[in-house]
Amino acid sequence: MNLSNTPLPRPGIMDIVPYAGGESKIPGVSRIIKLASNEGALGCSPRARDAMIHAAGDVYRYPDGACVELREAIGQQYGIDPARIVCGAGSDELIGMLIHSYAGPGDTLVQSRYGFLMYSIYGKSAGVETLFAPETNLTADVDALLATVKDTTRLVFLANPNNPTGTILPPSEVQRLREGLRDDIILALDSAYCEFVQSNSFDGGIGLVNSHPNTVMLRTFSKIHGMGGIRLGWAYGPAHIVDVLNRVRGPFNVSALAQVAGVAAIKDTEFQDSVRAHNRLWREWTREKMEALGLVVTPSEGNFLLATFPSEGPRTAERADAFLRSRGLICRRVAGYGLPDSLRVSIGTGEEMELFVQTLTEFMEEGGGS
Ligand SMILES: *Cc1c(COP(=O)(O)O)cnc(C)c1O
Repeated sequence: MNLSNTPLPRPGIMDIVPYAGGESKIPGVSRIIKLASNEGALGCSPRARDAMIHAAGDVYRYPDGACVELREAIGQQYGIDPARIVCGAGSDELIGMLIHSYAGPGDTLVQSRYGFLMYSIYGKSAGVETLFAPETNLTADVDALLATVKDTTRLVFLANPNNPTGTILPPSEVQRLREGLRDDIILALDSAYCEFVQSNSFDGGIGLVNSHPNTVMLRTFSKIHGMGGIRLGWAYGPAHIVDVLNRVRGPFNVSALAQVAGVAAIKDTEFQDSVRAHNRLWREWTREKMEALGLVVTPSEGNFLLATFPSEGPRTAERADAFLRSRGLICRRVAGYGLPDSLRVSIGTGEEMELFVQTLTEFMEEGGGS
């Protein structure tokens, strides 16, 4: 092959290690319990499902490119201006659009050490270097984030609560972060799990978007709404950033089924309440059981738990994962995040969590038979 005839991608693209989603199959195991992708235990809102079925006959038509009804429903739900909302094919798409619109080669973005991986992946695809700020107790550290910012920094990303740790910064700390950043830096608050936070005063960042310049909040329908398969998220920000995102997004980036499902789901607060209650109950039950087994469990405000295993001996995270898999239970290894001794487990149904704890107990008490 003559290499000079081979088209080359832009610098940085070949450095990307593709994001690996949670697996859903194990060869030779028929009953699989997937607790690897924070998908939720209760499916999606029955109203959202009915809305999709009802709309199925119309999918030969293009969707409303502006997502008018959906943005109005979201605006009404949260008391915010629909004109300052942009919808996307998952909040992942919006993360990518923000980075590609505001940063390029020579620029940097800042995130915390164990923050969500997609920021640095999209950064690489845009030729943007990611600077990682150290954390304290697996929690983002505002002083460290501020100290990591350089003249080249265009965006700071904070997942709050964070995935994969589940830890959270209180609104006062997020505000201190914003106030310590230059005004021209975009602070992107990724609030994918904010609906799970118990405190009523936690607004996912809406107040900060309203009160401070260049702050954007990102939300998803993949977590509390249980619609990861539909690909739907939204951003709320200042008019000038919304204008930019509307210029770069695909003209029909949100499917018709996603739009009708989103309208129904956002209004179904009863379903959201039931998901929140289920999550709290089983997250705390699971946490207590895991701690009783001697594991270190990071306090979580999300729909998952991060458990840390001994780094040596018969009860490592890697062995635990292999044992759980042999019984059909798929958790998430987080070595790619620099946490080789931890496993992340999503909160599933009560039955799934009981089976998970029972299997983990067997592993911890018998060392997985090894
Ligand atoms: C799940 C998740 C998202 C978004 O997912 P989409 O399915 O693309 O909406 C964004 N940020 C974090 C931290 C997540 O865990």
